[in-house]
Amino acid sequence: MFNFSKNTFKHGVHPPEHKDDTCTMKIKQFPFAPVMIIPMAQHLGAPSQVVVKEGQEVSRGQLIAKANGYMSVPIHAPVSGVIKKIGLVHTLSGNRCEGIYLEAFPFSGQEVPAGHGVDWRTSNQDEILAGVQQAGIVGLGGAAFPTHVKLKVPDGKKCEVLMLNGIECEPYLTTDHRVMLEQSSDIFMGIRYLLRSTQAERVIIGIEANKLDAAEHLQNNIPEGLPVEVKVVPVKYPQGAEKMLIKSVLDREVPSGGLPIDVGVVVVNIATCAEIGRLLPYGHGIQERVVTITGPGVKKKGNYLIPIGTPLRFALEEVGVADNISEVYMGGPMMGMSVSNLDISITKGTSGIVVFTEGETKKQGKPMACIKCGACVQACPMSLNPSRMGILAKHEAYQEMLDQEHIMDCFECGSCAYVCPSNIPLVQYFRQSKSSIRKQKLKANAH
Ligand code: SF4
Ligand code: SF4
Repeated sequence: MFNFSKNTFKHGVHPPEHKDDTCTMKIKQFPFAPVMIIPMAQHLGAPSQVVVKEGQEVSRGQLIAKANGYMSVPIHAPVSGVIKKIGLVHTLSGNRCEGIYLEAFPFSGQEVPAGHGVDWRTSNQDEILAGVQQAGIVGLGGAAFPTHVKLKVPDGKKCEVLMLNGIECEPYLTTDHRVMLEQSSDIFMGIRYLLRSTQAERVIIGIEANKLDAAEHLQNNIPEGLPVEVKVVPVKYPQGAEKMLIKSVLDREVPSGGLPIDVGVVVVNIATCAEIGRLLPYGHGIQERVVTITGPGVKKKGNYLIPIGTPLRFALEEVGVADNISEVYMGGPMMGMSVSNLDISITKGTSGIVVFTEGETKKQGKPMACIKCGACVQACPMSLNPSRMGILAKHEAYQEMLDQEHIMDCFECGSCAYVCPSNIPLVQYFRQSKSSIRKQKLKANAH
């Protein structure tokens, strides 16, 4: 039987769950859109670099953009077709970036020709990391951080525990839940690669207590000799944040400004691990990902295997939406972002699409003045002071936010905004503040 942990992190919130709508729905293959729109900036780091020309025919799985440096990954054709146009495309952030419009051949198939596979038994650490980068793998939990960078244990540090994050604490999403139930052999194959590349001594799969079927399934299928342990933790948001997970499972605290490796841990999202196990043996690149499409505005809710580059508009047409939709979220409503333009596409970081209707909108009322109730301070899992940071953000006092309030420790979980009775959009303030601080830093470094 798996272990139950009573330990948990400080603070946090309990938003109402809506996982029952999709958690029993098996992953279904999504059809190809007539034209895929593939942005080059769909991971953290340098955008990928286009290597195809307009008018060129490509087959599914073919490299269409290469990694542009170490902190970057390549992109592979999600469907066989013709490169119709290379130009600017819209992104979730509201900005535009270079992208590829790929017109699908009618009746294009799902199969992908095999490339140069990486054998986990004979490959060394560097070969596995190179294989992960060549497959274009980034964190599928939503962060889209290049996985090969995350797996590189810095000199002088040691990875004792490889932590697989199967928490999925966003209240609407069930992609990881389904992946754990339906792709356990890929997960265990992925673990073999991850163990070799991190040199970890043991593996812990962390799962929230609302997914006991997944915990049981993985526990019952651990291959002999693989040092894997399944640990079930209490349900609380944001349990899926790396630092929270490490605290709950191992009772270790990652220092302010530090990384999990500072306490001997590397954390990898469970779906990312499954992707490594599925792609690396065959030398394939990532072409699709599992996405939960749900919310009160969706007619055919479910978990879908959707080709990367599928336009959001096409995805919503396929599942059918209500006439009175009011808001669309990419990712979950806690950490995801509200969509301002339906002409964006499903990217590697899209874990969910949540559609609200006018009657059941997620949007809070008009922001009012802070009443100093302290609810946000009580909710913050990082023990920050969101109320004070909110005031500083309004005055653009970024240096003070940085030096005195440790704004960079905020990982934008949204717990503070969720509990605020004055509807102050605290997390948006912090997102903007952090981005301004990063820009100022880049500017200062350039001089
Ligand atoms: S968004 Fe940031 S400040 Fe607000 S609760 Fe989460 S970590 Fe704390
Ligand atoms: S929860 Fe909102 S109203 Fe209460 S202290 Fe924090 S910012 Fe102010």
